[in-house]
Amino acid sequence: METTLLSGKVFAAQLKEEAKRKVEMLQEKYGVTPGLAVIIVGEDPASKVYVANKEKGCHETGIYSEVIRMPEDTDKETLLAEIDRLNHDAKIHGILVQLPLPKQIRSAEAEILEAISPLKDVDGFHPINVGNLSIGKDALVPCTPHGCIRMLEMAGIKVAGKHAVIIGRSNIVGKPMAQLLLSRNATVTVCHSRTENLADITRQADILVAAVGRPYFVTADMVKQGAVVIDVGINRLESKKLVGDVDFESVAPIAGAITPVPGGVGLLTIAMLMQNTVFAAELQIK
Ligand code: NAD
Repeated sequence: METTLLSGKVFAAQLKEEAKRKVEMLQEKYGVTPGLAVIIVGEDPASKVYVANKEKGCHETGIYSEVIRMPEDTDKETLLAEIDRLNHDAKIHGILVQLPLPKQIRSAEAEILEAISPLKDVDGFHPINVGNLSIGKDALVPCTPHGCIRMLEMAGIKVAGKHAVIIGRSNIVGKPMAQLLLSRNATVTVCHSRTENLADITRQADILVAAVGRPYFVTADMVKQGAVVIDVGINRLESKKLVGDVDFESVAPIAGAITPVPGGVGLLTIAMLMQNTVFAAELQIK
């Protein structure tokens, strides 16, 4: 059986095209251009790359973009005041605080993220959005798992009735991925660092999602023939090479479909941020 390569590039382009069309529709119908503000505190090099990609995504889709660069030693009150200003700025429909935050304010991360208006919370980290997702109400959903679900839809991969196994239970990826798959009628198992007999469980997966943060963690013996394998991991090796959580070389021949790294889920995440910004604007117009 042929393995399908699920190219992030192809699906991200479709998601951005769809976002662009919706931006044009909102401009025509309501005279509103969706706006995204990204706050970056300090000089984390990886964050700078992500922020540049987000700006590019806005440019491509016609979303108004603001990047607010704050110094490394910014205190909590100053950051909260900036979020408050953006919460009241009519040009801005989505607010994102780039993580990780510098050390002196890292312990206040939850308070800072909760200060973002739930209607502008395009990362979907606010407890209101987390709660709405879990009870099946309209919610802004974290971009990475949301992008994975949209990719499955676009690829025509059936989810209902399938056994989906997720490795990882973070608030950013694992848990919302579980909610999204459950809401689409998959039978969902969430594995984590304390799971026993992990390979026995992953071998039962029709859809296997790896969000662990360990290079080459998922090996061929952990995957059922024909499974759909979604690799969320982004790991930088000492050699600077970027690899996922899945040992692509050995797993790809067994999988029915698989996402590569790079060129997979990472691209979907950015595209989904554009979609979330448009959706946030729609919610605010309502
Ligand atoms: P995290 O560190 O918050 O969570 C990792 C999870 O893996 C935890 O829930 C932990 O229980 C589980 N885990 C750790 N060791 C395990 C083991 N031995 N067996 C089973 N489970 C184990 O990480 P995260 O934020 O969820 O990110 C996971 C990976 O996804 C990272 O590589 C990150 O860089 C990447 N990521 C990619 C994107 C993207 O856009 N593609 C977005 C977010 C995160």
